[in-house]
Amino acid sequence: MFGGILAVLVLLFVIWQVIYFVRRKKQRSELLPKTFPPAWTDFLVQRVAFFEGLIAEERKDFEQRVLLFLSEVVITPVKTKIDDEDRLLIAASALIPIFYLGESTYPNLREVLVYPSAFDHDHQFKNRKGRIAGMVGNGYMNGTMILSKTSILGGFMNNKDAQNTPIHEFVHLIDAWDGDIDGIPSTILCQTSVIPWIDAIRQGIDEVRKGESSIDDYAGTNSAEFLAVSAEYFFEKPHKLQKEHPEVYRLMKKMFRSPVEK
Ligand SMILES: [Zn+2]
Repeated sequence: MFGGILAVLVLLFVIWQVIYFVRRKKQRSELLPKTFPPAWTDFLVQRVAFFEGLIAEERKDFEQRVLLFLSEVVITPVKTKIDDEDRLLIAASALIPIFYLGESTYPNLREVLVYPSAFDHDHQFKNRKGRIAGMVGNGYMNGTMILSKTSILGGFMNNKDAQNTPIHEFVHLIDAWDGDIDGIPSTILCQTSVIPWIDAIRQGIDEVRKGESSIDDYAGTNSAEFLAVSAEYFFEKPHKLQKEHPEVYRLMKKMFRSPVEK
């Protein structure tokens, strides 16, 4: 009896969730412009170095994929306000790591929650003790990403400091495509690169922990963080990564199919 009631409640919850997301997506799609506004292009040129570095044809492609991303993913502010520019930065950070993979969206993402500032493990952002700038949800929060508004703006304030929390979180989502957030993104890593990448992670983490690396200390946490932190470095300071960590650079260039040589 109890099992039956529980099953009905779960079913109702799932139906409610589906209706909620379909309605939100429809509302969002109706608000989206049919063609990319010139003011949005100007904004991306000014704020997103990756976009600025694309040739005209690639920019058009990027813009179309921004519209697609924004129509697929619900972006919800929580106790804060967001505008089109914030949404554009979120979409840009989502697209940068998948642009050369030919993807536009993430099958494992439905919604991005935007908190006003860094938060703690209980998702509280008012106590000023929170230090988490972004996270990928798991369990009941599967399909949800949380980003602090400060990390979105900060990530693109300086495009060359190897620090971009939104890109970091989207790389965790790519890592999760094979079912595990373990630093080995099997779906984008060609088979011959798996062992070299595992070796590069092992050596890279060792160097970080010994204080002998230019990759941020947080990469020493585990292999998943090594991938995400190194990806921030790769997309923001490829030249320096190539010079200081040539094997990490070579393998990242291959996994993200990146022609980046800037
Ligand atoms: Zn992380």
